[in-house]
Amino acid sequence: MVPLLSIKLLDWFNLNARILPWRQNPQPYRIWIAEIMLQQTRVDTVIPYFNRWMEEFPDIRSVAQADQVDVLRVWEGLGYYARARNLHQAAQIIQEKYHGELPKKPEELRSLPGIGEYSANAIASIAFNVDLPTLDGNISRVLARLIALEAPVQDKISRQTLLNFASTLLPIGHAGEFNQALMELGALVCLPHKPHCDQCPLIENCQSFTKGVQEKIPQKLSKKNLPHITATAGVIWQNHRVLIAQRPPKGLLGGLWEFPGGKLEDGETLEDCLLRELKEELDLPVEIDKKIAVYQHTYTHFRITLHAYCCHPLTHPIPKPKIQPAFYWVATSELSQFPMGKIDRQIAQSIFKESLC
Ligand code: SF4
Repeated sequence: MVPLLSIKLLDWFNLNARILPWRQNPQPYRIWIAEIMLQQTRVDTVIPYFNRWMEEFPDIRSVAQADQVDVLRVWEGLGYYARARNLHQAAQIIQEKYHGELPKKPEELRSLPGIGEYSANAIASIAFNVDLPTLDGNISRVLARLIALEAPVQDKISRQTLLNFASTLLPIGHAGEFNQALMELGALVCLPHKPHCDQCPLIENCQSFTKGVQEKIPQKLSKKNLPHITATAGVIWQNHRVLIAQRPPKGLLGGLWEFPGGKLEDGETLEDCLLRELKEELDLPVEIDKKIAVYQHTYTHFRITLHAYCCHPLTHPIPKPKIQPAFYWVATSELSQFPMGKIDRQIAQSIFKESLC
């Protein structure tokens, strides 16, 4: 028998579900792309990226046949770039191993790059209506509040508790709708701060509301101080062109393009750091002309302060990459064609608009 709570939730979803591009045309390929884009990213942010992606890559074959640089260019600004690289690689595997069709079985989905247990369950339930519960940020918050969970939802035991609870609620044959309904309730009503309990269809089932603790749940993880690094980058000019280098394919911002440079080491000046990095990475001696600006950014696991300098090559104008796989001398008007992380794009825009060097 379907629990009353689940019936109330599904009724609410039928009346309140937002019209979203991947819901209007819920083909498995579109559900997969949407699920990956929605990881750690809000729906409003994802919609324009999703539409652009579908224009550029209307099917799995077009992703599989694309150059990685084009995949990263379409993804630029959405962050967590490993998601784009994994999508590209997964599309190639699907073409070869599954004849261009997204597999239905969760274990086959999980074998693809970038698809973990929760994404596999979400895709299998929404695209193929497989009876599986899933957890994302919104679902975890709603479920944790319903049972007044007294532990952070990220804990391993908490996740298993929430998954077990979701399994007891899952209406057989309607898993896709049910999982989306929980996501939607978390996005529209059971908000992280000041949830709209007066509009919630589950208010009578909610232990947090009964106890008056809905603002305190889920419990926060204790925040650790993020490590901070200082780095330098060189905007190196020659014949009205600027040098950009491609980052190694794996790791942070893998495959994106950057103004070369690197991390400051103990006891080094910023200028010495830049000269050393350019020598180590590109075997390119330069003279530093002036500092352009200082940029700050926070990634998931660290904060960075980057000092950017204008430079010109000395005796050896042709770089010989030792670490970075490729480099180009480009006109500033061409920089927009190369996918970049946030700081490098800021530098590119500065030098293009303001002729800083
Ligand atoms: Fe969330 Fe409030 Fe609904 Fe409980 S009653 S599920 S806290 S919106």
